[in-house]
Amino acid sequence: MRFVADFLGNHRMLQRTGRPQWRVVRGGSRNYLGPLVEPFRDRLRLGCPVRRVLRTEDGVRVATDAGEESFDEVVIAGHADQALRMLADPSDAEREVLGAFPYQENAVTLHADPSVLPRRRRAWGSWNFHRPAEERDRTTVTYCMNLLQSLRTETVFNVTLNEEEAIDPARVLRRLVYSHPVYARGRAAAQARHGELIRARRTSFCGAYFGYGFHEDGVRSARKVAEAFGRSLSDA
Ligand SMILES: Cc1cc2nc3c(=O)[nH]c(=O)nc-3n(C[C@H](O)[C@H](O)[C@H](O)COP(=O)(O)OP(=O)(O)OC[C@H]3O[C@@H](n4cnc5c(N)ncnc54)[C@H](O)[C@@H]3O)c2cc1C
Repeated sequence: MRFVADFLGNHRMLQRTGRPQWRVVRGGSRNYLGPLVEPFRDRLRLGCPVRRVLRTEDGVRVATDAGEESFDEVVIAGHADQALRMLADPSDAEREVLGAFPYQENAVTLHADPSVLPRRRRAWGSWNFHRPAEERDRTTVTYCMNLLQSLRTETVFNVTLNEEEAIDPARVLRRLVYSHPVYARGRAAAQARHGELIRARRTSFCGAYFGYGFHEDGVRSARKVAEAFGRSLSDA
């Protein structure tokens, strides 16, 4: 049996009582990106994937489709498997730690079909876990965006994971595929080794995979890297 992605399978989130308080960024998490990147917006290069990272004696050579550039140090904030693929010469520690986080693709559907929510409206939650009659290898969850984002609209907007057949195709607004880290043996031990992958061989790594897979986990891991450079995130 496969284990579900951290943030999908976090049972504390799915409990009916004693749930942690769920805070949202108004307008969706994309809204924090603008203020976050404001100080360095002009230096961002989007749509320019890193193909290769090669560490040398005196720097790090980063190759993209636009060519190669040298840097003193790099911080790689991709998923663990993406980060490992970028490295031309991974060390044993990088191979062991980054290789300990397998990823799984999840089908995501944004739609306006309320039939995948509980029959009684009063039972609707921000997160609605589906338990299908037959066991499946993927968790199916519907996020009711009206509740999560306090949308004031008659139409009920949902985001459903891994359940395409039950949704009325006429009400589908968008389909996407995202990859998420899955629980795997040795994960906690790998997370505990994060420090070994900070400023070692001029390279540091961060990402939500060092925690439970939430935005906060990504930020927390980035803070550890920033601190190793003598900076706090509030300096930015
Ligand atoms: C539908 C859905 C709903 C979610 N809801 C929530 C939620 O409500 N709350 C929450 O906390 N989390 C939520 N998450 C999870 C959250 O989005 C992720 O945990 C978080 O974005 C992971 O952060 P990250 O920085 O580790 O990775 P990402 O945000 O995935 O960032 C990795 C980045 O690396 C880039 N990259 C990859 N390869 C390369 C390359 N070769 N060169 C250059 N760049 C590269 C990618 O383009 C990407 O921008 C949700 C996820 C999904 C899919």
